[in-house]
Amino acid sequence: MDRCAQCILPETFPGITFDGDFVCNHCRASAEATTQSPLYTAKSLEDLVSGYRRPGKEHECIVGLSGGRDSTFAAYYAARVLNLRVLLCTVDNGLMPRQTMLNIEKTREMLDADLVVVKNEQMKVSARGAITSWLRKPSIGMVPTFCVGCIGAIKSRLLQKAREHGISLVITGAGEPQLPLGNYLLSIPRGSDRKSAMLLGYAMELARNPYYLLNPGCLIEMAREAYFRFLRPRIRRHYRTGVRFVSAYKFVAWDDSLIVSTIQDELGWENPYGGSTWKSDCKMHLVKQYAYRESLGFTKNDIILSCLIQQGNISRTEALERVRHENELPRHALIEALDTLGIEPGHFEAAVQKLATRHHAAHMRH
Ligand SMILES: [Zn+2]
Repeated sequence: MDRCAQCILPETFPGITFDGDFVCNHCRASAEATTQSPLYTAKSLEDLVSGYRRPGKEHECIVGLSGGRDSTFAAYYAARVLNLRVLLCTVDNGLMPRQTMLNIEKTREMLDADLVVVKNEQMKVSARGAITSWLRKPSIGMVPTFCVGCIGAIKSRLLQKAREHGISLVITGAGEPQLPLGNYLLSIPRGSDRKSAMLLGYAMELARNPYYLLNPGCLIEMAREAYFRFLRPRIRRHYRTGVRFVSAYKFVAWDDSLIVSTIQDELGWENPYGGSTWKSDCKMHLVKQYAYRESLGFTKNDIILSCLIQQGNISRTEALERVRHENELPRHALIEALDTLGIEPGHFEAAVQKLATRHHAAHMRH
């Protein structure tokens, strides 16, 4: 498989184009973007939080803690670097590895912080619905919907906890460099208004697979997510919440080796399954990575490592070395993940292989 000469995005990345030097369109776009100075810095985060300090109050901010590497570092940063009195808040979607729960407990202990755990009972039901419908007619464009409703539930639970505790600042471990893979996987016309194109893309996927109609719970979550992602932002100003959400990595450099070494040394954090440390806090991530790797020949690790190259954090050689190791998904972990959801692993693997055959055939034709 050929990859971009500058980053490691492969030729199978949807819609990728290469110039005469075999440099991809994403590298060219990022070279143009980095000539502008960054809007946000660690210093501007300090300035921002200074407006939310509450002398004498028990907590000054909530940190959304998933037990994964990025939110664990965000919690460390808020408590130890910004010296905020944090209330840790975990939204348990029922798909967290055991080690992730242990990481959360260790983080709470090491930071000497309070922790609230809120359950999202709906998640496993929606995910199971999304996957069982998908199994009837597998499509790569619908893989992102395995997580339908999860992010929305996390945001609403964090907002609810902030209000209950009278806190106006919520810090999350979001904001790492990314390419929105979900957009590229939908067969939608390029150049059109992205949000409406994506809505149309998902509507077309649903029209092609009527089995989603058999899972109203999952459809409701899809409709809710579409509303919050595509429609609500336009009218958001009418619903001021009074709570500021801050994505840590829009301000603090997403230096992944520094993040990992800090949380390992300072908080005793451990990686649940070996392999990539990124998003290792949810079993569903493994399921999706498996589907991407088998059918497209790459995973989201290829994307995140490419972004790190484009930012100048790691070399291309280092990325190639890492991606080989990080794209190994332990089969026992995949089976554990599918078991948690009540999905028969053999059934899932067969559906992914069917999808893989279709994608390889399409790729050979080009
Ligand atoms: Zn590239």
